[in-house]
Amino acid sequence: MIGILFNILITVLVFIFMEFFAWFAHKYIMHGFLWSLHKDHHQVNHDHKFQKNDYFFLIFAIPSIILFVLGSKDFNYMFFSGLGIALYGLAYFIVHEIIIHRRLPPP
Ligand SMILES: [Zn+2]
Ligand SMILES: [Zn+2]
Repeated sequence: MIGILFNILITVLVFIFMEFFAWFAHKYIMHGFLWSLHKDHHQVNHDHKFQKNDYFFLIFAIPSIILFVLGSKDFNYMFFSGLGIALYGLAYFIVHEIIIHRRLPPP
């Protein structure tokens, strides 16, 4: 039982940490040395379905995948850290890309 609570706690803490990390990455990395990938996110009229900015979803998926692989043998804290990152990515995509930017056409 303690183990389950500990794993949930880790997942939630990593999720919260990712919110700070996303703020930091946006301010100092995406508007810093990776501006060339992020620039098109701030240009309003573009009709490509995919933006260069979407590469960031792949970049942020890498640590998550590594943690899943390393932690999947005994579902240790690394697995649940990876889960926290993945859930954050999903929530970010739904809130930021679909709700805020309306990337999906209306049904
Ligand atoms: Zn930006
Ligand atoms: Zn945006």
